[in-house]
Amino acid sequence: MSELQKFIFEGLPVRGAIVRLDDGWQAMQAVRAQSGAYPDAVTALLGEMTAAALLMQANIKFNGAIILQIQGDGPLKLAVVEVQPDFSVRATATIKGEIADNATLTDMVNVNNEGRCAITLDPKDRMPGQQAYQGVVPLFDDEGKPINVFSKVLQHYMLQSEQLDTCLVLAANDQLAAGLLIQRLPMAGEGNLGAENANVANEDGIGKSEDYNRIATLAMSLKAEELLTLDTESVLHRLFWDESLARFVPPEGPIQPRFACSCSQDRVSSMLRNLGADEVADIIREQGNVEVGCEFCGAQYRFDPIDAAQLFTDGSAPASDAIQ
Ligand SMILES: [Zn+2]
Repeated sequence: MSELQKFIFEGLPVRGAIVRLDDGWQAMQAVRAQSGAYPDAVTALLGEMTAAALLMQANIKFNGAIILQIQGDGPLKLAVVEVQPDFSVRATATIKGEIADNATLTDMVNVNNEGRCAITLDPKDRMPGQQAYQGVVPLFDDEGKPINVFSKVLQHYMLQSEQLDTCLVLAANDQLAAGLLIQRLPMAGEGNLGAENANVANEDGIGKSEDYNRIATLAMSLKAEELLTLDTESVLHRLFWDESLARFVPPEGPIQPRFACSCSQDRVSSMLRNLGADEVADIIREQGNVEVGCEFCGAQYRFDPIDAAQLFTDGSAPASDAIQ
C-alpha cells in the first residue's frame, strides 16, 4: 500500500515526512514498458525524483503543482515529475542513446556540466499573466565538482530557497519509490516563514540546532535497502525510537499518493493552438490527422482535419501550459 506520513518531533523545532509509492510507481513503469522499459539507472533517478516531489508537496503550504525537471546534456535528455496538491503524481523521461544500468547522475545528465534541475511551483488557479515560480540549480557543488546523488541537489536547493536545514534520503527500484525528509522549523514558528526578517534569523541558525543535527544524523544513517524493504512505521521506529514523535492525521484519513495523469483533450487542444494554425495545417497535409500521444499515461488524442480546423475557429485564446 502506498503511504505518506507527516510527523513532528514534540517540543522540538523539527518536522518530517516519509513516503512509499508502490502501485502508482509500478503503473507509471507499465505505461513506459509499452514503448521500452527504462534502464535501471533511469528508473532509480525518476523514482527518487518522484519520492522527493511527493515529500516537497507534503512539506510546503502551497496550492498548486510541484514539478521537478532535470534537463541534461547526456543520454538522458529530460526527466520530469509532477505532483498535484491531492498527491496524484505522474513522471516521464526522454532518452537519446545508451544508458548503462549502473550509470551515475553525471553519466546520464551532466557530461559537460550543462545539466540542470528546475523546481517549479505552479499555482492551481493562476491569474492571467501570473507566472509560475521556478528555481534552477546546477548539478555541481560550490567547488565545481559534479553531484552524483540526486538528494544532495535538492538539499542544496531547499537550504538556499527556504533557508532551513533539510535532509533527504531517497531510494527507488522498479517496485517502489520511497523517501524521508527531515527539516528544521524556524524557531519563531511556521507562520514566520514569509516574514521579512525570518530568513536572516534562520540563516544564522543553519547548522546550529542541536536537536535538528541529532535527528538529521539519525535520518542519514538510513540505508537505501532499509527504505526499500521496511514499511514507514518500521523505518520511523528504527530511526527515532528514542524521540517523541507526533504523527499528523489529515482530515480525510491517510494521504494516498497515486498515479494519475492530468492530460485531457482540452490541454492537448491548447498545446496545438500554441503550435499555430500553419504548423497544424502542415501536419494534416503530411499525415492526414494530428495524433498526439501523452508520454505520461499513454493516452492517444486524435484530431481529424475538421477537429483541427475547429481548434482555430472557436475563438478560444491560446493557453500557456508548460506541460500538455
Ligand atoms: Zn496523460
